[in-house]
Amino acid sequence: MSKKSIVIGGGIVGLSCAYFLKQEGHQVIIIDKSNMEAGASYVNAGYLTPSHIIPLAAPGMITKGLKWMFNSSSPFYIKPRLDLDLMDWGLKFKRSCSHNHVQKSLKVIKEINVLSKDLYHDFDNLPSMNFHLEDRGVLMAFKTKKAEVAEGKVMQEAKKLGLDVELLDKNQVQKLQPNVDMNIEGAYLYRCDSHTTPGTFMEQLKQYLVKEGVDIHKETTVTSLKFNGNKITEVQTDSGNFVGDEVVVATGAWTQQLLKSVGINLPVQAGKGYRMNEENPTGISMPAILMESKVAVTPMKGFTRFSGTMEISGVNHNIQKNRVEAIAAAATKYYSGLKISQTAKDQVQCGLRPLSPDGLPFIGRHSLFDNLSLATGHSMMGWSLGPATGKLIAELVAGKKTSLDLTPFSVERTYG
Ligand SMILES: Cc1cc2nc3c(=O)[nH]c(=O)nc-3n(C[C@H](O)[C@H](O)[C@H](O)COP(=O)(O)OP(=O)(O)OC[C@H]3O[C@@H](n4cnc5c(N)ncnc54)[C@H](O)[C@@H]3O)c2cc1C
Repeated sequence: MSKKSIVIGGGIVGLSCAYFLKQEGHQVIIIDKSNMEAGASYVNAGYLTPSHIIPLAAPGMITKGLKWMFNSSSPFYIKPRLDLDLMDWGLKFKRSCSHNHVQKSLKVIKEINVLSKDLYHDFDNLPSMNFHLEDRGVLMAFKTKKAEVAEGKVMQEAKKLGLDVELLDKNQVQKLQPNVDMNIEGAYLYRCDSHTTPGTFMEQLKQYLVKEGVDIHKETTVTSLKFNGNKITEVQTDSGNFVGDEVVVATGAWTQQLLKSVGINLPVQAGKGYRMNEENPTGISMPAILMESKVAVTPMKGFTRFSGTMEISGVNHNIQKNRVEAIAAAATKYYSGLKISQTAKDQVQCGLRPLSPDGLPFIGRHSLFDNLSLATGHSMMGWSLGPATGKLIAELVAGKKTSLDLTPFSVERTYG
């Protein structure tokens, strides 16, 4: 049955939900408070990552977080502040940092990543979509024995799951990427991964949706949701109210605040990250995560992107210059002769990753409402997992059997 569906949020998750809802034959409206040209879905590293099988909540993260808490240029930083939502999130995060949680999550993360990567390839096969997608894999490049050993353990788990990954020495990396010399000991090459240029994909998908008749309302802020019993009856915005049969909330890092208007307290914190685009040639042709500094390097369409940091400091887009410098300085240590220009630094942008406490996304309905679906909390994998999330939400709305079991992504799950 065709329904009128309102998708709140026009990042990768919201656009993907709109795409698959439209495919199911629904009438679709997207509402976004921004101009839909910036934010996490535009500034990310563009990786499609079946390799990221270890969730953010993993043993050792609490120790790292505490160690880095007072160093505002470290790759992972929690700004100490008195905030009840942050404290609640932190407790849930701590409970999730267990071996048991990691073991339970490995297969779940791999499966949703593989589904989503296949869907990106389906998008690539659409005659009207022309974006950048390359299947060259991603290097996990290391300088130290400690990082080699740590990633070696991940590689063993990845291999058990059937992912294609191999340990390369420095010379093998050099052969793969002949135009730049990396100052590393070696790298794990996750051939299972791919990379994209997010901005081009987002533009193409928006244009496609508009052509298909999806109604996009930019610069329109949803202020609250009105309900009657177990139905959301109205989506209230700063420029008029909307009524639909189904409502999908895909509002990224802003979700917790919005859902409080209907009595749902979904633990989502913002994890800020930065990106610099270097338009001068760098010779870099292989995407790489620089393991010790946690910087991601991506050869995109027309520029090389350097991105990094995970700064849990609330919902804001304040740029910390020392973090930007730390990303640039780290990158130059891994590539001989690399210079990151002042222009790239001056034009830095940041985005907010929507962080769930256990590193798994929230995909599904809440028991309070029959016509409300939530799609957020994708943390460091939202770019990878957008399309799969959209497909799963559309299946749910259509009352179909979902392509994957949604239990691990339950919006009412417990932690630890
Ligand atoms: C530096 C960096 C690098 C990253 N690299 C990768 C990577 O390589 N691979 C990967 O998979 N992921 C990566 N990520 C994570 C990924 O970018 C995010 O998980 C993903 O973009 C989240 O998408 P989203 O649609 O949920 O949220 P968003 O893109 O934030 O979209 C949410 C939208 O909701 C709108 N909104 C919010 N509240 C309201 C409201 N009340 N009314 C109307 N609209 C509202 C916002 O304006 C926004 O446009 C990275 C993130 C960063 C910051």
